[in-house]
Amino acid sequence: NGLKKYFDLKGGVFGRKVGEVKAVDDVSFTVMEGEILGIVGESGCGKSTTGKSILRLIEPTAGEVKFEDKDITNLNTEEMRKLRRDMQIIFQDPYASLNPRHTVEKIIGEPLLVHGVKSKEERKKRIKELLEVVGLSPYHASRYPHQFSGGQRQRIGIARALANNPKLIICDEPVSALDVSVQSQILNLMQDLRDRFNLTYVFIAHDLSVVKHISDRVGVMYLGRMVEMANKDELYDNPKHPYTQALLSAVPVPDPDAEKDRIILEGDVPSPSNPPSGCAFHTRCPRAMDICKEVRPKFEEQENNHFVACHLYE
Ligand code: SF4
Ligand code: MG
Repeated sequence: NGLKKYFDLKGGVFGRKVGEVKAVDDVSFTVMEGEILGIVGESGCGKSTTGKSILRLIEPTAGEVKFEDKDITNLNTEEMRKLRRDMQIIFQDPYASLNPRHTVEKIIGEPLLVHGVKSKEERKKRIKELLEVVGLSPYHASRYPHQFSGGQRQRIGIARALANNPKLIICDEPVSALDVSVQSQILNLMQDLRDRFNLTYVFIAHDLSVVKHISDRVGVMYLGRMVEMANKDELYDNPKHPYTQALLSAVPVPDPDAEKDRIILEGDVPSPSNPPSGCAFHTRCPRAMDICKEVRPKFEEQENNHFVACHLYE
C-alpha cells in the first residue's frame, strides 16, 4: 500500500547525494491467496524492486506491506526471519543464485536447517521429496549446479524455495534466462505446484507472453508506477492504458491475417531519476492531453476489478 523505494544517486568527488531514483513510486495492489499475479514492464520499471520490497529484501522508503492482514513493514530482523518461511523468492538466474561449491543436497538442505529441521535423516528425506516434486531424480542430490542444464538449475531453485512449505513466492523473471522450449516446461511445473500446494505467486517478467501463460491477473508497470491491472483475459483483450495498448500491439501474432496495427512509441523510457511530471508516460503517449503534463492520474478501478491510471478514464 503506497509502496515507494527511492535510491540515492551519489556523484561528484565527495560522493554526495545528487538526486534520487524513484524506482518504485507509490504502488498499491493486493494479491489473493492461491492467485498468480503477473507484473510486467520494461527493464528498469521497478518490478523487481517491488518484488524485493514485499519480502523486505530491500527496505521500502515508504508505504506498508501486509501479509495475511499483518503489517510486516516494521517487523524486526528476528520476526522477519520467522516469516521468511512463508515468503520465498525465485531469481532469474538460477546459476548465480546457487552456490557453485555446494551440492544440491546442501543447497536445498540449508533453508531446512535454518528453519529448524535438525535431524539429518529428516532433511535427506525431505530433499528427496522436493527433488521429485520438481521433476528431478533423488540421485541428483550429490551433484553440483554446473552439472545441470539451465532448466534443471531453475528446478533446483524452485525446490529450495519450496523447502519450508511457503505460502507466497515472488518469482523474479524465473524463466527469462531459459531457452523458449524450456520456458514452458518450467511455467507448467510452476502452475502445477501452485495448484498442488495452494501457493500464491507474484510473477515478474518483461515478456508479455510468459506473463499471459501463467497469470490469473496482470499488472503493468511503467517508470516505477502501476499503470494498469486486470484479470488476464480482460487485460489482454481489452487493454485500457495507452502504454499497455502499445506493449500488446508489439507482440507478434502467429496468424498473419490477424495483422494488427502496431503502436510505435516515440523516444526511450525517460530516466527514473528525472521522471516526467504528471503522468510519467505523457512524453511518449500518443493520446496525451494538456492535463497529462500537470496532474498525476490516480490508479482507480474502472469496472470489475480493472484498474487503470489514465486521465482518459476519469
Ligand atoms: Fe496518456 Fe494522459 Fe493517459 Fe498518461 S494520462 S496515459 S499521457 S492519456
Ligand atoms: Mg529485474
